[in-house]
Amino acid sequence: MINPLKQGSTIGILGGGQLGRMLAVAASKLGFKTHIYEPEKNPPASQVANKVTTAAYEDTNALITFANEVDVITFEFENIPETALNTLETIRKVLPARNALVTSQDRIIEKKFLEELGLKVAPYANINTQSDLLSALATVGAPSIMKTRRFGYDGKGQVRLKEVDCGNIAWEELGKTPCVLEGLINFEKEISVIGARNQSGEVVCFDPGENTHKDGILHTTNVPAGITTSQRMDAVLLTGKILNALDYVGVMGIELFVTSDELLINEIAPRVHNSGHWTQNGCVIDQFEQHIRAISGWHLGDGKRHSNVLMTNLIGTDALDIDTLSKDTSIGIHLYGKEIVKSGRKMGHINKILVDN
Ligand code: AMP
Repeated sequence: MINPLKQGSTIGILGGGQLGRMLAVAASKLGFKTHIYEPEKNPPASQVANKVTTAAYEDTNALITFANEVDVITFEFENIPETALNTLETIRKVLPARNALVTSQDRIIEKKFLEELGLKVAPYANINTQSDLLSALATVGAPSIMKTRRFGYDGKGQVRLKEVDCGNIAWEELGKTPCVLEGLINFEKEISVIGARNQSGEVVCFDPGENTHKDGILHTTNVPAGITTSQRMDAVLLTGKILNALDYVGVMGIELFVTSDELLINEIAPRVHNSGHWTQNGCVIDQFEQHIRAISGWHLGDGKRHSNVLMTNLIGTDALDIDTLSKDTSIGIHLYGKEIVKSGRKMGHINKILVDN
């Protein structure tokens, strides 16, 4: 182990949503304290953390104070402004490191990085200006998807093009901001791999999960995914390749399209991932503990799955029927403590243990 964090050390977490909350619970289980940094008041993670700073990512003084009060810094989301990183990094180690954040914050940088590693992505073209739009439409054509290069999530910041003629409307709808045009992949399945790498370079992956989406938001993850052994091997190997290339420390989620003859990478997320929530009830060491182990200089769990699991997100009012959910004793319930129910809001998730026949 490389300089393992001492018991009672404080892990600083940027972002106080449900991922920050579950990271804080995992840290606490391993004997660490947590300090959340989040611009919004009373975020889900504040209910389980030792300390919360409510301040903007532009508040340099608050960032300096936060960094001085923690022993290592991690994050639950990838859109941390570079200016905030500049401040934090001079005081404390931020893990995963900046190169992973910079790569994943911009779809074009991410795709180029993956291609340089010899990995496959959907056909794409860069659109910075109106004239790029014409050449992109000529190269990629339709059906396709136009996505903003930055700040997209849960299907937001993207428009589907049935025909090339819809290009101008899509570009305007997305605010004429830098975009990427991607060919629409006729995939058989969408899967994701949750991988981890620690400071000694140990790499461990969880079994790939098969994902379904509803209204652009992840709906279910089913593990094991219905893919062949060689597809599973390839998915895990390419995850290791990405983690090693970035000299990555922490957990990463990699989303893939499975077609009849290849695996294409949709996107990489340098953090714990919604499609890895099944690990909480399917593995001895889940993705949240794995991340805390990685950034704390510990050895990693082995990623082994002891149960088959169907994870379902509880969106909006889905989380209200506790009576039905809690009657099923094969279901692990995970709620995020959000008092206000809104349609489309992730309120929690359930992990149903599936019995092999
Ligand atoms: P993203 O925000 O890039 O993860 O996209 C959200 C969802 O849109 C994905 O999970 C896919 O279901 C779908 N999608 C995104 N890009 C493509 C593509 N190039 N071809 C087909 N479906 C896509």
